[in-house]
Amino acid sequence: MAFKFKGGVHPDYRKSPEVPVTVIAPPPQVVIPMAQHIGAPCTPLVKKGDTVKMYQKIGESAAPVSAPVHASVSGTVVAVEPRPHPLGDLIMSVVIENDYQDTPELMEPLTPAQLKDPEAILRRIREAGVVGMGGAMFPTAFKISSGRGKVDTLIINGAECEPYINGDHLTMLQYPDELLKGIELARIAQGVEKVYYGIEKNKQDAIDLLNAHGAAKYGIEIVPESTIYPQGGEKMQIKTLTGREVKPGGLPAGVGCCVISTRTAYAIYQACYEGKSVIERIVTVAGSAVKGPANAVIRVGTNFGYIAEQVGGFVRTPRKIVLGGPMMGICATTLEAVTVKGTAGLLFFTEEEDRTVEEPVCIRCGKCINVCPMRLEPTYMYQYYKKRNFEMLEKYHVTDCIECGSCTFRCPARMPLTHAFKTAKLMLQARAAKEKARAEAAAKEARK
Ligand code: SF4
Ligand code: SF4
Repeated sequence: MAFKFKGGVHPDYRKSPEVPVTVIAPPPQVVIPMAQHIGAPCTPLVKKGDTVKMYQKIGESAAPVSAPVHASVSGTVVAVEPRPHPLGDLIMSVVIENDYQDTPELMEPLTPAQLKDPEAILRRIREAGVVGMGGAMFPTAFKISSGRGKVDTLIINGAECEPYINGDHLTMLQYPDELLKGIELARIAQGVEKVYYGIEKNKQDAIDLLNAHGAAKYGIEIVPESTIYPQGGEKMQIKTLTGREVKPGGLPAGVGCCVISTRTAYAIYQACYEGKSVIERIVTVAGSAVKGPANAVIRVGTNFGYIAEQVGGFVRTPRKIVLGGPMMGICATTLEAVTVKGTAGLLFFTEEEDRTVEEPVCIRCGKCINVCPMRLEPTYMYQYYKKRNFEMLEKYHVTDCIECGSCTFRCPARMPLTHAFKTAKLMLQARAAKEKARAEAAAKEARK
């Protein structure tokens, strides 16, 4: 039984799952950022001049919320220094000159007994650097372990509702058995009996294939879902598949759920059955600035300029580089930045896809309110953002905004709503940090 969530939109999906998966040859140099996950960045384990193997661990942190990083090619470390990160900053990175040998350093596959042992699976998920590969990049081992005792339902997210992006759909079609085994491992590690796999009906071929490959015998119930954006949002998947609602400020574990993406489940399979750490993924490369589209397996640490060349080069000058999908993706500022574990899409847009207008004016149509899946009131939130009225922004629950982009998409006046709410949330965070520091300084002063 599938429940409905409020709001949502129907963008032009522009998907291209019929484009076969190709493999982009790894570049002469890869740049592996030490931060490819939510949480503590890693410390490099190698130095300039070291020889490394493909899959070798090259960065690690002892913090619980973190994930190690691994070399995506074999070769020689030529630098350990800050380099451009897709999120815009300079981040400490290990630069490896590719020797084109792909000499591997694999972990031992788990034994049949270990494949049934929740602790062994969890340790392997952590060691392989598995993170949320739908884009969130939350360390998967921590997500599973922190939900133990609270979670009774595991949800696999197969909606892939962002326009353009095809990696999850193609993983379902290419690796059905491996994917089902990966989901089973996640279920064992989580210690639950029930797994729902929510897949949008625009992937009926994948739903049929996974059922034909015996999803039920792995304890997996595939639930076909309506094709509506943002079906793939964590809170929307939980509502659709269980009827439960994550309260404002709450977490999925608070309603007994853990949500894992399709590609993450496949990475768990590779880690446990093949001893492979996360060093590559399918990335959809598209947009009117490139010849594409392409669905390509790309090594982590490959720079955007190289990827554009490999898919046929630019046919027009790109105006915007978007990482992820056009609804929730973030804009990159340089072609020198590189792919990370969470990069599902790389879109090179020209003015054709750019909806920006100078000085937009709200016409008070209320459409943004109707489509917001979080039951927020974007038009009022925007007014308070413009006035920098933080009290009212909090009162209107701007922090509950999941930045899905539905309001911006639906707005006939093309108001930059989502961008405003992202900025407002950052401003509120900075304000809270400042207030905390001020209170601590005052308390220290009072103790003197
Ligand atoms: S971006 Fe935020 S305000 Fe806009 S529709 Fe999504 S959740 Fe609602
Ligand atoms: S959809 Fe746009 S124009 Fe309509 S009320 Fe919302 S912000 Fe204003």
